[in-house]
Amino acid sequence: MERAYNFNAGPAALPLDVLKEAQAELLNFNGTGMSVMELSHRSKDYEAVHNQARELLRKLLSIPENYDVLFIQGGATLQFSMVPMNLMLPDKTANYILTGVWSEKALDEAGKEGSTRVGASTAEQKYRSIPESADLDLRPDDAYVHITSNNTIYGTQWKHFPDTKDVPLVADMSSDILSKPLDISRFGLIYAGAQKNLGPSGVTVVIIRKDLLERSPKDLPIMLNYNTHASKNSMHNTPPTFAIYLLGKVLGWVERYGGVKAIEKLNDMKASMIYDAIDQSGGFYVGHADKGSRSVMNVTFNLASEELEKKFLAAAREKGFVGLNGHRSIGGCRASIYNAVPVEACEALREFMLEFKAKN
Ligand SMILES: *Cc1c(COP(=O)(O)O)cnc(C)c1O
Repeated sequence: MERAYNFNAGPAALPLDVLKEAQAELLNFNGTGMSVMELSHRSKDYEAVHNQARELLRKLLSIPENYDVLFIQGGATLQFSMVPMNLMLPDKTANYILTGVWSEKALDEAGKEGSTRVGASTAEQKYRSIPESADLDLRPDDAYVHITSNNTIYGTQWKHFPDTKDVPLVADMSSDILSKPLDISRFGLIYAGAQKNLGPSGVTVVIIRKDLLERSPKDLPIMLNYNTHASKNSMHNTPPTFAIYLLGKVLGWVERYGGVKAIEKLNDMKASMIYDAIDQSGGFYVGHADKGSRSVMNVTFNLASEELEKKFLAAAREKGFVGLNGHRSIGGCRASIYNAVPVEACEALREFMLEFKAKN
């Protein structure tokens, strides 16, 4: 069977090489006579898998020594709660910059844990853009500032991160982590569910500056306290071993490809193929995001009518394109082109878009 042109928003495409490696090792991992899923998480064999994944992420993202890398379950959504539970300070307010549905959800959860405010929002512009630096209301006594680096649903992405000075910057990077080089030292905490750019669902990566671990209240439930995961190498209880194994394999694939700089080039090329098809269509396709805020990971666009969009999506499905429908909250069309989506799939989509326009 042919592999589908997979433009799913998440869980999303995985590199074919990674799937083949996992397939080859499925029944007998590393001479153990069993799959990774069947290993004890306390065994040397699993421990090596676990530590290699963590170290490779450190290497690829040049994560400084004063940061811990944690593997946690519960998705990015649990981080909407864990971030405020651990980082909120009495008498201080957490500052949320709203750029889409995911940041709204993060704000809602934080509001249950303490005092919050909205330092900027582009909701009135239908989240077509990222706010300008000058429009951010940042205050030195904020507990932290929270942003969503890539807005998976609206197809917008921060191009320059705000300078929050001594206030920790917290970023939900679920849909663009590892898509380009990153200056980790600008952030207090980064979190990302793995199922977009890092691997399968089931594991969430948290990168936290070590001094921030001191903020966690002592009476937090043990699994919700970052210190538990940091002090136990993310193995206080059984970790999602197979997800972490595949995460390690995806990281190995990125390394072999040439690291995040090479991946960034590839991503830019893939994105411009599709954005060019939109921009050169004479208004047949209309991008949702303002040009300056366009995401390299999620390309969102509309056609002239809902009817024509339906026709487009049906014709696309017919040709083997999967996942091009927009998020159920906003409709339209969306192509998610994470690291593992091959250039050929983007080329095929571009061709299909030109062809569909010519016929309609
Ligand atoms: C997908 C996504 C989430 C939700 O992730 P879960 O792992 O399903 O909780 C949160 N934030 C962003 C930016 C996302 O893209």
